[in-house]
Amino acid sequence: MAGVRLVGVRKIYEERGHTQVAVHGLDLDVADGEFVVLVGPSGCGKSTTLRMIAGLESISGGQAFIGERLVNDTPAKDRDIAMVFQNYALYPHMTAYENLAFALTLKKMGKAEIDRRVREAADMLGIAALLNRRPRQMSGGERQRVALGRALVRHPQVFLFDEPLSNLDAKLRVQMRREIARLHRQLRTTMIYVTHDQVEAMTLGDRIVVLSRGEVQQVDTPTAVYQYPRNTFVAGFIGTPPMNLIEGRLVHEHGLRFEAQAGDLSVPLDSTRDEPALERLGRVILGIRPEDLRPVQPGQGRAFELTGKVDLVEVLGGEVLVHLSFGGGELTGRFAAPPIPQVGSELRFSIPPDRIHLFDGESGQRLP
Ligand code: ADP
Ligand code: MG
Repeated sequence: MAGVRLVGVRKIYEERGHTQVAVHGLDLDVADGEFVVLVGPSGCGKSTTLRMIAGLESISGGQAFIGERLVNDTPAKDRDIAMVFQNYALYPHMTAYENLAFALTLKKMGKAEIDRRVREAADMLGIAALLNRRPRQMSGGERQRVALGRALVRHPQVFLFDEPLSNLDAKLRVQMRREIARLHRQLRTTMIYVTHDQVEAMTLGDRIVVLSRGEVQQVDTPTAVYQYPRNTFVAGFIGTPPMNLIEGRLVHEHGLRFEAQAGDLSVPLDSTRDEPALERLGRVILGIRPEDLRPVQPGQGRAFELTGKVDLVEVLGGEVLVHLSFGGGELTGRFAAPPIPQVGSELRFSIPPDRIHLFDGESGQRLP
């Protein structure tokens, strides 16, 4: 087994005289046995990064290591990695058994060892009964298991996954996600997994790497990324519905307060904040997660509360998403249900100061 280390890895595509930087100097250290998820919107460079690790794409700059080995110029077949793609890429004319055995046959492995590995992988994935079927005789989920099996039989040092579940329906995706997590617990092989789905990233990764426009925004455990997003991009990308981000400024008025640019929203801030540092700042962005808005029950007066008009209510079952407007501004809250607020009614809520995130209005970086 081996870890993966990227040092200042870059990818530049040249197309008809036009150059495009797809990945800017990316640093990443994936420990041996770790499960790391690269997550970000479409086009941010996830697949390119993974393909450079796999050796399917040349590296324009920087260094890639698998274990202690520099692999920049190592052909894909000699990197000892296995990759699973979104489109299963199975051989249509081969049975599941033959699909699983194919790479091992190419390596001239003995028949008995191939058979042992194929059956071991098939057992692990619950597809032993399907080994004689061809891809078109299988469901999407079954095909994706065979695609996973094809990676498993190789006993690689590192598994790479590029959005392997995107073609599956929602229920199957959740089921396969759990199976991949279970496989990782069982095998303890290094896994690097690419997805645009932040729920997949949060639930699978020991650590997640948030990418935007070919640059790393944050690398940390899912919990830390959620609780302490390093900038407004991460704050808005991780979490559904996303964190409310409101532009405004800081003022001194009975202590430190935030005043929104649009609408009449004025929020007291924690007195423990580093005031001198904040005082020097002009524009700031206040962030508050939907679940951190607290409805105030009648008769339960708070020292500080806000009133918003209920514009839209989305009932999720045990929870409701409530879109509130106040003057020219808007906020989304996520509340336990019942009660289900009435559209058009006024809703009183508070914002706990210790749940407020502040970001620099210019750079978008998190403030202390
Ligand atoms: P993701 O997997 O995060 O959706 P990609 O890594 O596929 O993103 O792409 C990153 C950027 O590189 C995109 O802007 C994409 O258009 C560009 N790109 C990807 N592959 C090529 C290529 N073969 N030639 C030119 N540009 C490419
Ligand atoms: Mg991709």
